[in-house]
Amino acid sequence: MPDLYIDGSWTAGSEGVTAPVINPADGSVIQEVDQASRQDVERAVAAAKAAFSGGGWWPGTATGERAALLRRTADLLVRDKEDIARIETLDTGKTLVESRIDVDDVVAVFRYYADLADKDAGRIVDTGHQHVVSRVVYEPVGVCALITPWNYPLLQLSWKIAPALAAGDTAIIKPSEVTPLTTVKLVGLLEEAGIPRGVVNLVLGDGPTVGAPLTEHPDVEMVSFTGSVRTGQAIIRASAETVKKVAVELGGKNANIVFADTDFETVVDYALLAVFLHSGQVCSAGARLLVEDPLHDALVEELGRRAERIRLGNGLEPGSESGPLVSEQQLAKIEEFVASALEEGARLVAGGHRPDEPELRKGFFYRPTVLDDCRPDMRVVREETFGPILTVERFSTDDEAIALANGTEYGLAGAVWTKDIGRAHRVAGALRHGTIWINDFHPYVPGAEWGGFKRSGNGRELGPTGLAEYREAKHIWLNTAPEPS
Ligand code: NAD
Repeated sequence: MPDLYIDGSWTAGSEGVTAPVINPADGSVIQEVDQASRQDVERAVAAAKAAFSGGGWWPGTATGERAALLRRTADLLVRDKEDIARIETLDTGKTLVESRIDVDDVVAVFRYYADLADKDAGRIVDTGHQHVVSRVVYEPVGVCALITPWNYPLLQLSWKIAPALAAGDTAIIKPSEVTPLTTVKLVGLLEEAGIPRGVVNLVLGDGPTVGAPLTEHPDVEMVSFTGSVRTGQAIIRASAETVKKVAVELGGKNANIVFADTDFETVVDYALLAVFLHSGQVCSAGARLLVEDPLHDALVEELGRRAERIRLGNGLEPGSESGPLVSEQQLAKIEEFVASALEEGARLVAGGHRPDEPELRKGFFYRPTVLDDCRPDMRVVREETFGPILTVERFSTDDEAIALANGTEYGLAGAVWTKDIGRAHRVAGALRHGTIWINDFHPYVPGAEWGGFKRSGNGRELGPTGLAEYREAKHIWLNTAPEPS
């Protein structure tokens, strides 16, 4: 079956181009997928526009009907969970356990926005005049381009498509060219759930050929993007031409602050999970460990010991604790980061190389790496590595920890570990991050907003704000007793 979905039909690219999708666990080709041309992008935008206006009926559909469609999609995701999780693992390399959690999370997001769709119809505003009714109502923005990255292909898409459909928008989806497979699958489920023709369209391909024309297109009213800062900046610049709404979720360089009074065994487990989940390819990865002086030596030693024991392997195999990096390019980037850190004076505590096992050397694996004696001016501390690298810095006061954690261009997430709840609250209040975990790392719920301060982004996904992004507020002033003035 062809892989592009335009105006309610599955189709190949108009130029007949395909591209291979690579399994990062062994470098093999999983399958070839169709690539969209600029002409296909044009057709997709035209279909989304027609479905939104000019004879289309989607935004006028009863909210309950849109919510029912989201619920049906969630049920289909539950039905196909194992199949989808397997494809996500093949494509991204993450373990099957992680992929199953991703599918569960996606189901929860679809159900959350189905529930929220009819909860906030607008409000009545007091004008001070008895004969005037002033209402603020929410309407869909229009045609939205949804552009996603390769680390959480299905999850990141759900954070966009579920609220967009709940709001009544129409969409063109463009997944990462590196990991398109579960997106194709999800669009198939939306079709099975009964999405009307043209409401959701899918174009596959790279950024310059497919992503850029979407962000430049005058009929696209909004771009919601998750990915790197550099691409986010390009998208904001391109969108400025036609004054689109833009929501960007970008990178992170997230501090995990550990005070000496915290429980040692617990923080060891969580610090490893924080940074090595999905081999560090997580925007909120706890890649910067900040440790209070008295705990530093023991914690670093134990983290190094435990990191060396992490079992790498193909994500489909039950014994694998951590999968490969997503691509050869990503692997090369990580090797370069470690080399630069060592040159700048970091001390290698664990990892720092590719695994020795011949079967793993066919894939893009890298050993979980711990670097001590790191400083804020080092490149590995300043820049997002998006790989299995933990850098360790030490501090001796609360203010120093706060200054280190905030001393970055990013502001996505961070954590504080301490038994002193007053201190935890104070530090959390001072951190310029969109999410702060106290004595935990990574959990999120669909009802709580997700997004970044500073260069980590400018929008919010999830929660009521995640729906508001896909709506326009309209003020309707009704004078029930107009008189000559
Ligand atoms: P990327 O910026 O390279 O690509 C993201 C998407 O943008 C892809 O679909 C790509 O094809 C497309 N694209 C590239 N150039 C484009 C252009 N000029 N116009 C339009 N689209 C274009 O990012 P990536 O490498 O796929 O993903 C990793 C990045 O994503 C990391 O920086 C990570 O922190 C970030 N991320 C952030 C969050 C968050 O919630 N803040 C979540 C996941 C990932």
